[in-house]
This record gives sequence, structure tokens and C-alpha cells, in this order.
Amino acid sequence: MLVVEKFHEMLEKYHLTEEVKVIKTGCFGLCQKGPIVAIYPDKVFYNHVAVVDVETIVSEHLYKGRKVERLEMTDIDEETKEKIFDIDSIRFYAKQKRIALKNCGVINPEDIQEYIAKDGYMALGKAITEMTPQDVIDEVKKSGLRGRGGGGFPTGLKWQFAADQPKGDKYVICNADEGDPGAFMDRSILEGDPHAVLEAMAIAGYAIGAQQGYVYIRAEYPIAVDRLKIAIDQAKEYGLLGTNILGTDFSFDIEIRLGAGAFVCGEETALIMSIEGKRGMPVSKPPFPAVSGVWGKPTIINNVETFANVPQIILIGADWFSSIGTEKSKGTKVFALGGKIANTGLVEIPMGTTLREVIYEIGGGCPNNKNFKAVQTGGPSGGCLTDKHLDTKIDFDNLVSLGSMMGSGGMIVLDEDNCMVDVARFYMDFIVEESCGKCTPCRVGTKRLLEMLETICRGEGTLELLDEMEELCNRIKETALCGLGQTAPNPILSTLSQFKDEYIAHVVDKK
Ligand code: SF4
Repeated sequence: MLVVEKFHEMLEKYHLTEEVKVIKTGCFGLCQKGPIVAIYPDKVFYNHVAVVDVETIVSEHLYKGRKVERLEMTDIDEETKEKIFDIDSIRFYAKQKRIALKNCGVINPEDIQEYIAKDGYMALGKAITEMTPQDVIDEVKKSGLRGRGGGGFPTGLKWQFAADQPKGDKYVICNADEGDPGAFMDRSILEGDPHAVLEAMAIAGYAIGAQQGYVYIRAEYPIAVDRLKIAIDQAKEYGLLGTNILGTDFSFDIEIRLGAGAFVCGEETALIMSIEGKRGMPVSKPPFPAVSGVWGKPTIINNVETFANVPQIILIGADWFSSIGTEKSKGTKVFALGGKIANTGLVEIPMGTTLREVIYEIGGGCPNNKNFKAVQTGGPSGGCLTDKHLDTKIDFDNLVSLGSMMGSGGMIVLDEDNCMVDVARFYMDFIVEESCGKCTPCRVGTKRLLEMLETICRGEGTLELLDEMEELCNRIKETALCGLGQTAPNPILSTLSQFKDEYIAHVVDKK
């Protein structure tokens, strides 16, 4: 039996079905402590809730009004046996600022009325009744919002390029093809707050003059797909998608396109090919999609998190949004915090927060008193940062200047037990699997890099091989066709630059 089913059973038993509503929400962020049950309006969170805990919560808290300070332990360890917390009192949330995740874990994502009750669709109403399309674009430009999918390109500028194309068919695409190992930001937003993304896509459609949008989402996200379908149907029923939205001349529809899980389809030209029903392979740019995208028509592609910021920018204003963050990176960024970290989960922090704050104050540091060694940001396209980078303020430009990148938001923490050569091998193995094979530097070059790493890991490498490997990395970066291949050597280059001693130890010590 599921926890939620037990709650329904116990509410019946204690005659509380009139007073208490059980709602399945999206992710609260603190995955480490799940399953979580939040009691509102008390704002009490019970964590690691098991079926055997439910009757105590219902009989004590909901029936008698007494918070359950300590529940009988189920199968959890000593460190995590505290079962109750107040959301405002825990450090995990203290340094976070939730904009993209504002409604996740708060509303029922399958009920449009709950989204509307949180000012949902007000931004769309404001945009199409009080603003011109150019006003909308200017507001997004002024906010400083940059693409959260990895590239960090200014969102308003991208919209402007598409808006400047001659009138006619144009398209808005939401890229929900999240594929980095360890990344689940977009999935959580779509599972927890799908209407925010739909609303933003409609706003974008109004801004550039498009009437059709697509959400390109991987089929491995069935809950997100289901909730999107429900949200699209509800929005149409409420006149918030479809023809003559809110009684205006503006019409905009959204369809879902399922991806089959190819990492390369996150690259926008490959994604477009896939939507058109072709094999998902990148093509060289220019022309850029804003000029010639789906079926050769102007198309903007933004990722889920980028869109999730838009309604609040329109509603509250660009000045508010741009007051958060650093000089060139405005707003917040959602990270999926994983690996050797006490509090794994989803965190949203203002740009400019330091790595130290994320790893130690929010993440709680490495478990089991292990020493922090490095953090991999940007997934297979990114790089590792070490303890000497802990006071770096996280933003697009700072991470790039240190040889890593923001990426879409995967943040994997590594401790003293991790072998950095093995980490590089893991990412290269992933890339070799995911290379589309179109161009030789990536198809053959990454395979060769993987073979070199395997040779080194077997203790059969030489110092010359290390030099050869570095040389090949640089060649691939210069010559691969798309971003996947151009960034594929980053995990090797970054670990080579930060942890060359470990590579040398493999080469020398084991001979
Ligand atoms: Fe395909 Fe790799 Fe070439 Fe990109 S770089 S087109 S993924 S083979």
C-alpha cells in the first residue's frame, strides 16, 4: 500500500475526510528526506514517512492537533531518524530562493485552479491585454534572463530575432529533453508546476507572433508527460490555450512531442529534426532556429527552467528579477545536487551564491566525515571544481572561466574516495554511447579517448599517452560539428588540469 492510500484510509477512520484534503504535489526539493508529507497551514513537514507512520500522524497531529515529535522508526538510519521539521527552520531552504520552483511541492499540479490561486495565468493576461509583443520582449531583455539549458544565451534577444522575422508561421519549443547524468531539474518543474511552463510558452508565442508550441520531452518522464497532458487539456478548457485566448485575437496551441531518450536531441538542431520526424542529428549553424527552425520557419527553443521564470518576470517585473543575482547572470539557478553529499535534492539559489554555501550549508557536506574532493558541474560537457574554487560565486561566466560550465544544472559532488580518472572515464563512456556518429572527430575521436582512459585505468598507460590524449581532446574541441562533441573532452581536460597527479599515479605507480 502507498503512503497516500494509507492517508485516505486513516482519514476515513478518524472521520476527517471533510476537514483534511490529501494532495499529491511535485518535488519539495529535499529528496534525501523523502517521502515527505507536509501539513498545511501548520507548515510542518514529516520526512521519511512510511505506511506504518501514517496512523500516528493522522491520529496525533490531524485529529488531536499535536505535532508528532518523534515517530516510531522504520527502516531508516540513525542520522536521519528525526522525522519532523518546520520548513522555515531548516538550513536546506534557508539560502534558497524559489522562483522557477515556486509552486513545486506547494500546489496540486493536476489542478489548474490551484495554479490560478497562486496568480497563475495572470502574467499571460497582463501580456496579451496590457502589453504589445515588443513590450514583452523588452521586459524579458531588461530582466537579464539567460537560457538555463546550458548556453546562457540572452532569452529576450533570442525572442527578438524570431520576432523580427517576417510574419507567417513561427514556433515556440520547450526543450524538455533533459539528458545529463544526475540532472532532474526540468523533470521536477514539469511534474510540480506544468502550467508555469505552458503559460510562459503562450507568452513567448504572443511576443514572437507564433500560434503553435511544442514541448519536446523524453518519454522516460511518464509522470511529467501525464501532468503536461492534463495541464494542456485544462488550460484549453479554461480558454487559456487555443483560439482567442481570454477573448483576444491571440491564439496559441501546444502539443507534446515525445523524444526517445537520445542525449543529442537536446541540441536544438537535432531536436528540430526529431520533431519533424527525422533522425535526430545536428546540422551546422547558421542559420539559427530563430531564423529557420521547425519546417524552415522561425522558431525559438528555450528550456523548461528558462520558461518557468518568465511568468514572474512579466507579472512582477524585470527590475525585480534583475535585482537578484550577479552583474551578468540574473535571477536564480536550479541545481540537482547529487553524489557524495548529505542532502541530495533539488536546490534553487540566487546567482552569486558560492559553491561553499551550496555544498556545505545547503548540501550539508560529504557524509561519513569524508573530505570533499571536487564537484562536477555541467554534466558531460562541464568540468570539475575543487576546494580552491569553493568561494567562487556561481554564475555563467565564473564557472566557464574556471574550466567548467553551468550546464543545465547537474552538480555531482565527489569525495576523497572518488578516482578522478574514473570520473572522466564514466563521462566519456556516456558520450561514446550518445554520439550521433555524424562527424568523425566525435564519432571516432571520443571512442579513441575512451580507449586511452581504459588503458590508463588498467595501469598500462604512459606519460606520452597522457600528452596524446590531451592533444586529441583539443583537436575534437576544435573540429566537432555540434556542442556535444565540442564539449565532450571537457571532463578529461578539466580533471587533467586539476588532478594530473592522479593520472600520473595510474601511469607510473602501476607499472
Ligand atoms: Fe553527432 Fe558528435 Fe558530430 Fe555532434 S559532434 S554531430 S553528436 S557526431
